[in-house]
Amino acid sequence: MINIYQPQLGEEELQAIKRVFKSNWIGRGKLEQQFKDDIATNLRTETTDYGYTCVKADNLLTINSCTEALFQILDLLNFKPGDEVVIPSVSFIGVANAIEQTKATIKFCDVNDHTLNVELSHLEKVCNENTKAVVLLHYAGVPCDLDPIIEFCKKNNIIIIEDNANSPFSMYKGKNTGVIGDYGTWSFDSMKIMSMGDGGLIYAKDKSNVKKLNENTYLGLLSSSGYSNRVDSKWWEYNISGPGRRSVINDISAAIGLEQLKKVAKFINKRKKIHQYYSKHLSKLSWLRIPLPIPSNCESSYYMYHIQLIDNNDRDKLASYLKENGIYTTFRYYPLHWVEYYQKYSHDLPNTDYAANHTLCIPIHQSLKKSEIKYIVNTIKEYGKTK
Ligand SMILES: *Cc1c(COP(=O)(O)O)cnc(C)c1O
Repeated sequence: MINIYQPQLGEEELQAIKRVFKSNWIGRGKLEQQFKDDIATNLRTETTDYGYTCVKADNLLTINSCTEALFQILDLLNFKPGDEVVIPSVSFIGVANAIEQTKATIKFCDVNDHTLNVELSHLEKVCNENTKAVVLLHYAGVPCDLDPIIEFCKKNNIIIIEDNANSPFSMYKGKNTGVIGDYGTWSFDSMKIMSMGDGGLIYAKDKSNVKKLNENTYLGLLSSSGYSNRVDSKWWEYNISGPGRRSVINDISAAIGLEQLKKVAKFINKRKKIHQYYSKHLSKLSWLRIPLPIPSNCESSYYMYHIQLIDNNDRDKLASYLKENGIYTTFRYYPLHWVEYYQKYSHDLPNTDYAANHTLCIPIHQSLKKSEIKYIVNTIKEYGKTK
């Protein structure tokens, strides 16, 4: 079976883990700090004709998963009953869960039926005076058109959280996604472009929120307490700011992450080539829609390649046909307003319904061989002949 997503780990990661074992420090330590520093130098907050500015490492913190990152951020926002958080129904389930466990209520919004990204018009339809935050997904790695959304959210005091799991190094007008809104979250789980097994990253625009998040992700311990080894006597005494959880990554994960970070530009370039190959060959098939071109002011991380079958029922048939021929596909993200538990928040979302019935994500990852990519295209073409 050809996998839809697949990590690519090798000798470099193994050697890095070996060094961690030898160092005798496998918990959170120097490598975690270095990972944060190195990823910061890869994330631009601005690009001009004269150069670029990177995000500061102290606006970032590592975390054991992107789901936990979302739980932590939504907890921090301290919502009151009646507050609403807007998310596209095409979102990862963990986003909804993170909102559901706060006092706020979920409000689903629609998306563009072709890009599956949220646009200003979709937000305008569902936002009201109770809307406190919105969680945006840059679907498949293609940035949402953020400028109009940011302007709208500023005017209405709505906090923007970018779920950046699809778009770890995507760019919007010279800035990396994830560091444009108030908060951003990354995932380095086993299905993402770069992986450390499990792991994630948070960006917070306001450094005082990074401080709070650092406490809440490490037992609530105040950074000034003896636990941090920063005092000379009675270092066993400590205090906490509140009942925090423990959501950190260790130096084994960080060591893997550091090696993956060195390779990720190559990974993305490989995915770009696959994307271009698919678009070139599949654009000729009149019975399907290929993704729209990446907007010229953006760069994608090429996390997914989604095709849309124009005829009803064709999507499910093609998915089965490909599976029978050894090619695994899926649809991301099964709309939350169709998930039984969240149907209570369901309302009319016609584009989402269309997308959920017509979209199929086909394999794209950096380990795909040329022969496999050709085989996938040919098998899709073969399916067309059976129609
Ligand atoms: C994978 C993913 C997450 C969650 O990441 P984990 O690190 O597995 O918790 C969140 N959002 C999106 C869009 C994802 O694809």
